[in-house]
Amino acid sequence: MIDKNLLIKTCADFGVDVNSETAERFDLFAQLLIEKNKVLNLTAITEPDEVVVKHFADSLTALSMIDIPKGASVIDIGTGGGFPGIPLLIARPDIKLTMLDSTRKKLDFVSFAVEELGLSANVLHARAEEAGQSELRESFDFAVSRAVAALNVLCEYCLPFVKLNGTFCAMKGSKGKEELADAKGSIVTLGGKVTDSKILTLSDGADRTLINIKKISHTPTKYPRPSAQISKKPLK
Ligand code: SAM
Repeated sequence: MIDKNLLIKTCADFGVDVNSETAERFDLFAQLLIEKNKVLNLTAITEPDEVVVKHFADSLTALSMIDIPKGASVIDIGTGGGFPGIPLLIARPDIKLTMLDSTRKKLDFVSFAVEELGLSANVLHARAEEAGQSELRESFDFAVSRAVAALNVLCEYCLPFVKLNGTFCAMKGSKGKEELADAKGSIVTLGGKVTDSKILTLSDGADRTLINIKKISHTPTKYPRPSAQISKKPLK
């Protein structure tokens, strides 16, 4: 059982409303996550209050940065055990969510959890740099991603999926501003523009940096490049 009031209060602190019905669904998700984690290595965070703050509330910080219209399409790149995707879907079941990851066993859990929660989402087993050259290119209103790669590389994974005028919300840790300084050229090359950024401190005391990057021009077709090129010559 999670402390639902802790979730409601932590989210209220950064301006996101969680009602008691939504909190019930988070409770079920926590049970599924903690149970499956005994057999699958999904997360190192298993203590219920930590799950609430470091996974659930942290994922929902995106809603304090991006105002997602009803029914908008959202892709979560490198979702792992479903973060931030599943919390966003629990809070906003109206969104058309795709959760992408290159690790199949984590996605098996994500599909299972979505079904158990009575929700619906697309779950996609792929590498971001390959799917970014598929028909999914420039087809999402929003992209989100947490704990996947340094921002300069992450932009090459994520911006190709975003429609013109759509937004990529990068969810970074305490070093977000430094990463942003290193990613300035990469953002411009990929057709993006930083429109907003902020630092939040959650009740665990750690800083989170949220960065909104708007797609202001089409991403040149050569991006994303194959993985070997991205790691050999990351955009700066
Ligand atoms: N976003 C989740 C979270 O915050 O808990 C998972 C973070 S985990 C540290 C990084 C995830 O990104 C892993 O599940 C990994 O498989 C995935 N990943 C890394 N590079 C990727 C790529 N190029 N394409 C797709 N998934 C990738």
